Amino acid sequence: MNLTSRIEQTAMKNGKKDAYFFQGETVTYSQLSRYISRFANNLQEAGIQKGDHIALILGNCPEFLISYYGALKMGAVVIPINPIYTPDEIAYLLHNGDVKAVVTLDKALPLVEKLSEQLPNVKQVIYTGSKAEDETSGRVFLKPFAEMVDENSKEYVAAEETADDDLAVILYTSGTTGKPKGAMLTHKNLYSNASDTADYLKIDSNDRVITVLPMFHVFCMTVAMNAPLMAGGTLLIMPKFSPAEVFKVASEQKATIFAGVPTMYNFLYQFPEGNKEDFSDIRLCISGGASLPVSLLHRFEEKFDVRVSEGYGLSEAAPVTCFNPLDRPRKAGSIGKSITNVENKVVNELGEELPPNEVGELVVRGPNVMKGYYKMPEDTAVTIKDGWLYTGDLAKMDEDGYFYIVDRKKDMILVGGYNVYPREVEEVLYNHPNVVEAAVIGVPDPNFGEAVKSAVVSNDPSLTAEELTSYCRKHLAKYKCPTEIEFLKELPKNTTGKILRKALKEQITNH
Ligand code: AMP
Repeated sequence: MNLTSRIEQTAMKNGKKDAYFFQGETVTYSQLSRYISRFANNLQEAGIQKGDHIALILGNCPEFLISYYGALKMGAVVIPINPIYTPDEIAYLLHNGDVKAVVTLDKALPLVEKLSEQLPNVKQVIYTGSKAEDETSGRVFLKPFAEMVDENSKEYVAAEETADDDLAVILYTSGTTGKPKGAMLTHKNLYSNASDTADYLKIDSNDRVITVLPMFHVFCMTVAMNAPLMAGGTLLIMPKFSPAEVFKVASEQKATIFAGVPTMYNFLYQFPEGNKEDFSDIRLCISGGASLPVSLLHRFEEKFDVRVSEGYGLSEAAPVTCFNPLDRPRKAGSIGKSITNVENKVVNELGEELPPNEVGELVVRGPNVMKGYYKMPEDTAVTIKDGWLYTGDLAKMDEDGYFYIVDRKKDMILVGGYNVYPREVEEVLYNHPNVVEAAVIGVPDPNFGEAVKSAVVSNDPSLTAEELTSYCRKHLAKYKCPTEIEFLKELPKNTTGKILRKALKEQITNH
């Protein structure tokens, strides 16, 4: 069994079932399965072989789904690339990832054509939309996407089966330092994590999942794409996030699951026209990717009368390792318990397991853990030790086996020898009724080594730094309180909605 064979199984058993909805159109499982098969066949006819690397430079659209599963079906390895990356970033990934074929948005086609002239490894470029001439461009062969799924195409017949251990996807992640590293995920990694997540969150064929997280990111790939399609559910694909659209799609399409990052929850919560009637079919809201402030979790659940389950994952683990269970209490502020088949533990610097409530590094073991980083054996060796994946996140576990992320190891601030975890300070700031968003960073301090500085987005222009500082003093030891607070209109975020601490640091320390 693998991801594409599960989709085909649903197509055979229940072909009329809707696989996805996109911009007013629905496509059934039998149609999707045919598109995937034709795409796989045309890829093979274009000279792409099992094991070749194919980059997808696409946003959320059916073409992503079809080329992703089509490539996996014929054994090619998918490298998803964020379409808003700069030319340098895209060039680096196409080069480092040894990419042979690219599927791209027509908007990015001129850039890809130009880059491929300098990248001899790129042989095929498939583009969405229409282009006047679809001849060769230099040595690169260009083809419109529509031809890849054309009804006159043959269906794919496998020359060779894909094995569980074959590479399926390389996910570039910034990791903790340096250039992006390619986490190599196998068919088994993806399949097991999607099925274990679906099992744990009881995702089934009745579910209609809002797919608004970016498909090129692993959170969406497993939770809002692979898992629901494996379960025979329906994806409600949205090209980009807007609170108004989420409420509209949720109510008109009777969505049952929403999956998002904390900043999305914040935007939905703050949106004046959002109301709980729009979410009346939603049975589960899934949060992950970054910590969900506890006060936001409570306010959101109350306002929309839904259950929010926070989980945790990382690209290197395909990604899910923990989730709050549905059949046991949901603990606010916790990432929940280990999902089926995945082990999590908290260890000290020597790799020894720590007792409950002690803070150490979170390590993970299971069928979901990557093979390693592509062409980076040294980085792999420091990340996977004795079969355990070192996450770089500080965590603790309580007596009931629920895990709590304390912070990323590298984000910890050292104030005169004391550890300050930005997350703890941010939780307090989020509790203030006039704080919409908050982030805390360490800045150099001549006396204490580092000092705590905070950037805040407020909904009240009269809120002062003094007022917020004294609020923090009531809830936190003095050394943890921000010594400086800066008010901003918005915080810098990446396309997944994660707050970019490095960019924020540059923004609020360079003046
Ligand atoms: P990525 O590989 O882009 O998915 O990023 C993985 C990182 O996101 C993890 O190592 C964590 O630092 C962070 N992360 C994911 N989920 C959570 C969560 N629920 N709480 C806190 N941090 C999280």
